[in-house]
Amino acid sequence: MKVLITGGAGFIGSNLAKYLLKKDHEILIIDDLSTGQFENIKHMEKHPKFTFVLDSILNYTVLDELVSSVDIVYHLAAAVGVEYIINNPLKSIEVNVQGTENVLKLAHKYKKKVLLASTSEVYGKNEKASLEENDDRILGSTTINRWSYSNNKALDEFLALAYFREKKLPIVIVRLFNTTGPGQVGDYGMVVPRFIKQALLNKPITVYGDGEQTRCFTHVDDVVSALDLLMNCNSCEGEIFNVGNPEEVSMNDLAKRIVKYLKSESKIMHISYEKVMGPNFEDMRRRVPNNDKINKFIGWKPKMNLSHIIKDIVKHYEEDLRF
Ligand code: UDP
Repeated sequence: MKVLITGGAGFIGSNLAKYLLKKDHEILIIDDLSTGQFENIKHMEKHPKFTFVLDSILNYTVLDELVSSVDIVYHLAAAVGVEYIINNPLKSIEVNVQGTENVLKLAHKYKKKVLLASTSEVYGKNEKASLEENDDRILGSTTINRWSYSNNKALDEFLALAYFREKKLPIVIVRLFNTTGPGQVGDYGMVVPRFIKQALLNKPITVYGDGEQTRCFTHVDDVVSALDLLMNCNSCEGEIFNVGNPEEVSMNDLAKRIVKYLKSESKIMHISYEKVMGPNFEDMRRRVPNNDKINKFIGWKPKMNLSHIIKDIVKHYEEDLRF
């Protein structure tokens, strides 16, 4: 198969590209390197079945040519990372709304199946113990920039569902929970590699707020296998799936576990949200996926727990030292 991955130089996209290349697919990537990194795809550059196009999904003409030439599209290109969204509000809306509209319009024009990467951010402040795909979205005011991302991605979902219902475009939507693993950089948030780097350098571990907020982290290899299975599942078309690991950890405990594992001299330092994110910031206290639906449809369950994830990232930093 010939596969287009938008945002293929990003952390998840590049891991997906590597995985699909190994399965002998031909890979085409479009990425404007705004948050993606050439470093992520450098090792594939010489592969005869790999092509990288440096451009934005806002460039409709280029995108038209790419979508027309492939069999399927993984749409992963997006402005991501809470800190990036907050610092680039306009660009984030443009890319996440208009960009997705471009992809879906062209996929419809050429009748190509699309997997849309959405996010657990769409649940907003819903603190339910185990979030299901049909659960309510609970959001704050429009003056709080963070909620723009949640709304933009929700609009993407509405659009994809509308194309499915009205135009019979085969689509599948995945809501990614916090995904991490070796090679992820902590530039725009991404707390796990950030804490590990701080601990390796014996620098203070920067825990935001009271640190009692929790998250669930999924290994990128688990995520990539879910994306591949969902793309190849006919009964999954027109459906939304959580992709996440339900193992829940508070940021305080995450910091302690990393310090202990690395026998680091780092001290845990609490910083107010206001200091890092400016005024008008809201965090969600909790975000835990329910995996029943994806398990029922494709038999997927995450294989790697948090200890495994931490070990893998540390190993990568020690081998690569790409801080
Ligand atoms: N966080 C933190 N210190 C950091 C970076 C992030 O305490 O240096 C917290 C952040 O406030 C959030 C959690 O870690 O509560 C996860 O942040 P991340 O940016 O990784 O993803 P998010 O869940 O916010 O999308």
